[in-house]
Amino acid sequence: MPHTPISRRGFIEATGALAATLTTTASATTPFPRPQLKGLPLPGGVRLPATPPRRKREDSVGIAIVGLGGYALSQIMPRVDQAERMHISALVSGNPAKLAQVGDAYGVPADARYSYAQFDKIAADDRTQAVYVILPTAFHADFTIRAFAAGKHVLCEKPMALSSAECEAMIAAGRRANRRLMIAYRCHFEPYNVEAMRLMRERAVGAIRLIRTEQSYRAGPTTPAQNWRFNRALVGGGPLEDYGLYGLQSALYLSGEMPDSISASTFQPSGDPRFTEIFAHVASQLTFPSGAVAQLATSYDAAGANLAQVRGTHGTLIMDPATGYAGQRMRIEGQNARDLTPGDPTTQFAGQLNHFANAIRDNTPIVTGGEMGLRDMRLIEAIYASARTGRTVKLMPDGRMRG
Ligand code: NAD
Repeated sequence: MPHTPISRRGFIEATGALAATLTTTASATTPFPRPQLKGLPLPGGVRLPATPPRRKREDSVGIAIVGLGGYALSQIMPRVDQAERMHISALVSGNPAKLAQVGDAYGVPADARYSYAQFDKIAADDRTQAVYVILPTAFHADFTIRAFAAGKHVLCEKPMALSSAECEAMIAAGRRANRRLMIAYRCHFEPYNVEAMRLMRERAVGAIRLIRTEQSYRAGPTTPAQNWRFNRALVGGGPLEDYGLYGLQSALYLSGEMPDSISASTFQPSGDPRFTEIFAHVASQLTFPSGAVAQLATSYDAAGANLAQVRGTHGTLIMDPATGYAGQRMRIEGQNARDLTPGDPTTQFAGQLNHFANAIRDNTPIVTGGEMGLRDMRLIEAIYASARTGRTVKLMPDGRMRG
């Protein structure tokens, strides 16, 4: 049964700005109604634990998983057990049968299983200190703000929200509640990407000149009604916010710089049911104050790619595939050419969860906080603004557009 997200003043302000953003960034001219939450069945291929995982430490953080979709059930929930200081304490779903089945498998008490409409009751549930929002993008701001209002800390999936206005409302809600906000940018906890950041800081390829990222796959037949990733009201512009965000993030954390200008183009073919609402590809060029240039391409209609490449004055770093759940490959060509195998990429999930738990328990800094999600959303808005106007967009150091 569908539920309409509960409105709050800050959220209403944000969605007003969001509507403005969507009408200015979207290529389509039709207005998109605010989407409704859905309770979907257990996705195919999900393996539930045979015995419920156990809490490992006295000071373990209890986390509520909001949204029992593919990523939550297949990637995150099975790995919470690998995180020393975190355990699943509550579940939130729109499908009562799935909620019961998953709750039983993970040993979540029946009175810690919530529907979307009942979610706000979690305020009185002391077993839960934090909330992990793993819903389609359109619901990130609403559930983050509701979780803060309930006194919980929030880990929110990427992309942070549909617009920079929503991101700002989420950050403000966290400040008001004095609670922590982290964006689930898992690559910051993945050994290959962490090592690549270190190597680039140490100028392992010399001074950085050219960066290239490609994130693409060819989507099967679908429509906006069948798949939220193709529905503008649920996802925004499409591949850039979803897969292409990894390329944008890579360009920033490998260069260690913020761009000062962006030029971009989008492509939305006519007559293809997959792309009636979203773009098929987005290509952007970022220039950095050092003179380095990054070219980012992302597509839902091109053969699979997951590449990050940094060409410096003395060599090239090649990450291919760059940002998967597993199977990363990385090498340096040119001076000091070598293959690099810094660790097991699958530790990124527990690494991310422990980072969040430590921030809550020890008040340590969060490396992927709300400000980073906001920064990225500003750059995405600049990319769409450039594509829409056909002009280069100049940026301020915090990613906002000049003028
Ligand atoms: P999914 O389609 O598998 O699951 C979506 C969940 O949201 C389902 O439980 C569904 O019931 C619920 N939902 C509520 N209202 C819905 C609606 N109107 N339409 C569709 N689903 C609705 O999606 P997913 O792949 O699990 O993605 C969920 C979130 O996780 C997104 O924010 C996505 O960007 C993020 N994600 C992150 C990564 C990563 O590597 N960090 C990978 C995949 C997904």
